[in-house]
Amino acid sequence: MRLILLGPPGAGKGTQAQVLIEAFGIPQLSTGDILRAAIAAKTPMGLEAKAIMDRGDLVSDDVVNAIVSERLDADDCKAGFVLDGFPRTIAQAEALGEMLDGKDMALDAVVELRADEDTLVERILNRAKESGLARPDDNEEVIRNRLEVYRELTEPLVVFYSNLGLVRSIDGMMAVEEVSAAIKEVLA
Ligand code: AMP
Repeated sequence: MRLILLGPPGAGKGTQAQVLIEAFGIPQLSTGDILRAAIAAKTPMGLEAKAIMDRGDLVSDDVVNAIVSERLDADDCKAGFVLDGFPRTIAQAEALGEMLDGKDMALDAVVELRADEDTLVERILNRAKESGLARPDDNEEVIRNRLEVYRELTEPLVVFYSNLGLVRSIDGMMAVEEVSAAIKEVLA
């Protein structure tokens, strides 16, 4: 099963990716997680990405495309994968298409989690408070920027992938278990 999880920040992509990992025995490929690991390890890529991520802007397409291309070659991706947080621009989606063609792979579905913006800001702030794990990009101003970036650069991917007949849209505002059940249903 080769999937993309698409949706604004706070819509529950990470949580649902965990469910899909278990259900299908496939790895989660989160470009955000890989970039945060690079920051923690103080690699040149991490150092370059940090200021951009702290503002809630997007890291360059070239950087994330290279991360994903390399990750897709790992053995655990042979069974499939769930992409979480990639692609985020049309250029990334086009690059992904070329990568997958070159690796003789094809996407099975793009699961879109739909959510209401004001609820998302509250959700992200609460998640940060409750977990005690606020990310540097979890403050209201940056969250609003992340949402704007999503609307302008990432949301057009819904049309891009709809034209390929791949999009399955789900209400991401339901309870976690209900969202999981709905995802499994559309993928069955
Ligand atoms: P996430 O964990 O998916 O919310 O990503 C956190 C931050 O990492 C984003 O706000 C971006 O700055 C950066 N990032 C993650 N994935 C991408 C991507 N596909 N393209 C560009 N920047 C990304």
